[in-house]
Amino acid sequence: MFAVEENKSLIAFSTMRIGGTARYFAVCQDMEEIRTVVRFAKERGVPVVVVGTGSNMVWSDRVHDIFLLHNTIAGFDVIDEDDTSTTVLVGAGENWDIAVARCVELGLAGIEAMSAIPGTVGATPVQNVGAYGQEIKDTLVYVEVYDTQTDEFKKLSNDECHFRYRDSIFKTEEKGRYIITRVAMKLSKLPPMQPRYPAVVSYFQEKGISNPTLEEIRSAIVSIRASKLPDPTLVPNCGSFFENALVTTKKAEELKIQFPDMKIFSVDDTTVKIPSGWLIEACGLKGQYVGKLKLHDKNALVLTNPDGATFADLLEAKQIVIDAVKEKFGITLESEPNIIE
Ligand code: NAP
Repeated sequence: MFAVEENKSLIAFSTMRIGGTARYFAVCQDMEEIRTVVRFAKERGVPVVVVGTGSNMVWSDRVHDIFLLHNTIAGFDVIDEDDTSTTVLVGAGENWDIAVARCVELGLAGIEAMSAIPGTVGATPVQNVGAYGQEIKDTLVYVEVYDTQTDEFKKLSNDECHFRYRDSIFKTEEKGRYIITRVAMKLSKLPPMQPRYPAVVSYFQEKGISNPTLEEIRSAIVSIRASKLPDPTLVPNCGSFFENALVTTKKAEELKIQFPDMKIFSVDDTTVKIPSGWLIEACGLKGQYVGKLKLHDKNALVLTNPDGATFADLLEAKQIVIDAVKEKFGITLESEPNIIE
């Protein structure tokens, strides 16, 4: 039942397990509850912050003068179908990986490489989540949103979301304006795209599988991610803590002379992507404590909180990593989770 709580602990809403309290809190299971929360918050002059599972959120450990809206809108419906594709409309509060599993069971391709990504369906468009060559922007048709500025429910087309690499209007120009309620994705009934990322290619080579099926691709990704990423229920973490570095081709060519082993992937004519995990590892930090937090021993991109650190400890750890990479490579890493100070 819909109810407003006060002084809600934020610890349960960040898989990093750090956080103070939110002034107001409510679970919203439908669109009208979202509208009620926004009106309530406006009357009291506090901003609304939407959270799913908190797998990409880091809160400071103070009292936050916000209305924390836990979006649990459910639903998984086929809304359109032809010979080669099916469009599904999924509630923003649904668990992303369960939605991926359902699509794979239905024989629908397009999001299987994004298997085992933590979080909710509604969170995926915000940073245009992607993995192993697939991004939500490739299948997303539209998002249904509540516009907090105009008090309207509307649809935003894929183009209107201005998707970029791990980015969209929901993170930048329209941050805080829209609350995503449902996501429509058009998936393919045709055979899946064959893996091209090294980790997935070698997984199938080792198993002697040459044309993996949809189910085999999903199970490969689940297994690769499980081997590289710590389970947040055992060791608190928010997955990748740093974004991959985007630098000019010229800068990358200069670095490559000094660091011939450095991995580089082209983004466009002038920009390349450098895996930040490689940069951090090259600084000797993989598996090491950085202050009171620790970089995961199987993936240097993941900052873990094994010993109950504070928010100040986390900021210190973040800076240690940024400074080390800056000093060695002249590249300033950006953190990936939504850090609310
Ligand atoms: P990884 O597979 O070690 O790859 C590291 C970097 O190399 C990524 O920037 C990746 O690009 C790039 N890369 C590798 N093979 C490539 C290829 N064949 N073509 C183009 N680019 C290539 O990465 P990881 O850290 O273990 O993460 C696994 C996957 O999960 C990656 O795709 C990563 O982007 C994704 N991921 C996404 C999020 C998110 O959406 N917030 C968070 C964590 C990890 P891409 O980044 O373009 O894939």
